[in-house]
Amino acid sequence: MKDSLQIDFARNVELAKKIFNLLVMELRKRKLLNIYDIQLNVDQADITINLKSDNLPGFKKIIKNILMDFFKNDTNLSSYEISEFENIIIVAKKIELEKLTRFLSCEICGYKTIYEEELFTHRYTHAGL
Ligand SMILES: [Zn+2]
Repeated sequence: MKDSLQIDFARNVELAKKIFNLLVMELRKRKLLNIYDIQLNVDQADITINLKSDNLPGFKKIIKNILMDFFKNDTNLSSYEISEFENIIIVAKKIELEKLTRFLSCEICGYKTIYEEELFTHRYTHAGL
C-alpha cells in the first residue's frame, strides 16, 4: 500500500507556498525527494504528498519533524499549531484550529473534509452533475 499525507493550511495560501518550498528543500537535502511526490494546491492552500514506492517507516514522522522544526525556529509563527488527524496534518492558528478539528464526512463514500462548503460541493459529484 502506498502512503499519502495531506497538509492543510486553513486557507493560508502564503504559508502553504512557504512550507512547500521548505519541504522540497529539506527532502532534497535528505535525498528523499525522488521517492516523494509532493504537490502544492494553491486553490485549496494545501500540500499533498504521496509516496512513490511502498510504505517507508517513519514517512509521516519525517514530514512532521520538518514542520515542527520550522515552526519552532520562526517566532513569527509562534501563534500557529500543528495537529494531526489520520492522514491530514492541519497547520493553523490556535483559535482557528479549534473550529477546524471536527471532520465532516460524506455519508455516501466517506470522503472527509474540514470545510462545510467543500462537503456540499463534493456531494454533487454523487448526483452526476
Ligand atoms: Zn462522497
